[in-house]
Amino acid sequence: MSNNFLRRVDLIFDKDCDFKQVLQSAYQKSNDEIINELLESGLKGRGGAGFPTALKWKFTAEQPDPEKYVVCNADEGEPGTFKDREILFQVPMKVFGGMAICAKAIGAKEGYIYLRGEYRFLLKELESQLEVFHALLDEMKIPFRIKIIMGSGAYICGEESALFESMEGDRGEPRNKPPYPTVSGFRKKPTVINNVETLVYSFMIFRYGARKFKELGTADSRGSKVFSVSGDTPKPGIYELELGMTVEQFVEEFGDGDTKAVQVGGASGFCVPRKKFKDTIIGFEGVPTGGSMMLFNSSRSMFNVLHNYLEFFEEESCGQCTPCRVGCQQLKLGIEAVKKGEKHANYLEQLQKLAQTMKITAKCGLGQSVANSFFSIVENFKEEMIY
Ligand code: NAD
Ligand code: SF4
Repeated sequence: MSNNFLRRVDLIFDKDCDFKQVLQSAYQKSNDEIINELLESGLKGRGGAGFPTALKWKFTAEQPDPEKYVVCNADEGEPGTFKDREILFQVPMKVFGGMAICAKAIGAKEGYIYLRGEYRFLLKELESQLEVFHALLDEMKIPFRIKIIMGSGAYICGEESALFESMEGDRGEPRNKPPYPTVSGFRKKPTVINNVETLVYSFMIFRYGARKFKELGTADSRGSKVFSVSGDTPKPGIYELELGMTVEQFVEEFGDGDTKAVQVGGASGFCVPRKKFKDTIIGFEGVPTGGSMMLFNSSRSMFNVLHNYLEFFEEESCGQCTPCRVGCQQLKLGIEAVKKGEKHANYLEQLQKLAQTMKITAKCGLGQSVANSFFSIVENFKEEMIY
């Protein structure tokens, strides 16, 4: 716990990269060699859930269907997360490069970027960079093309199966899983869907090699990660940091001297109170994050913070399943009633049972993860929840 992992890293935003050479050397490898290199690196998905990237590629590669796809999930919608926007703005060619290497590994000819509706301002530049990229692929005789599809502003379309529905022109509602996209994804065909940042790291692993990537981070959380830092901090912004730091180390660097809580992983993540800063690792062995780090100081009401998250989930729930559609609304009404004194403080326990039920019974990650912030705020800041 005493190791200081809070090291700034420059893997992703490093502009000094011979793009063609990286692509060429990856394309000289066999499909198995590509997947093994990625497996060796220990890279886990950077969207938040942390599934091993190489396994996704491997499972898709193993499917006998010749029609396969690579999809880049650029529907970055988690409150407090804005790092993919910066990656797409600064180093789009590396995102395309990661997709092309994945295409080689799994045998895909087409790739798609599903771009968050609110990021439409990036579209023109992305399309012009894509033209340059396609010209390079032609020169290298690589038969792969990428298209960009715009989202329309629904948070739920960042959930991969809702994203496929939206790409196919249908209402963005999550599908049942399994089958996972590796078996049945876009157009019900085997699909690798990775977050923007995951694709750039995949590309950079073929620049630096798995060994260099593995030197960073911990056994469970290899490498570095891009964080979006916001809230009560004198240093809001985007930072690429080595994984494995504690919340305490993070707060020492980014706090304003009065931090009482850090929300790790956005509204669907966990709220870490001051008393747990020292023992909580930011990473897959502690609190995982897609990159959102929101700091709150003592001027903030944690009731208001939780209320804000619940309003957000109520608004963004697709309404397809009852535990989430009704649960989000009831949790919000419930904490309002306790705060106004219309319900006894014990009612919070009933609400926690409801949140637990949602975790078990909701159809997708949205409804299942409401309990994360609900529990961590109610348990750690109970005095702020009651009348
Ligand atoms: P998940 O754990 O169900 O799956 C993670 C990924 O692994 C998915 O791509 C899934 O298809 C794949 N997977 C899991 N098991 C598999 C298997 N056996 N075979 C093949 N593939 C398998 O998580 P999820 O519901 O996809 O995502 C939830 C996460 O997304 C949460 O951590 C949340 O914080 C995060 N999130 C991120 C954003 C953002 O803007 N980046 C927004 C909302 C939520
Ligand atoms: Fe829709 Fe919520 Fe059910 Fe997910 S959990 S399918 S968002 S209603």
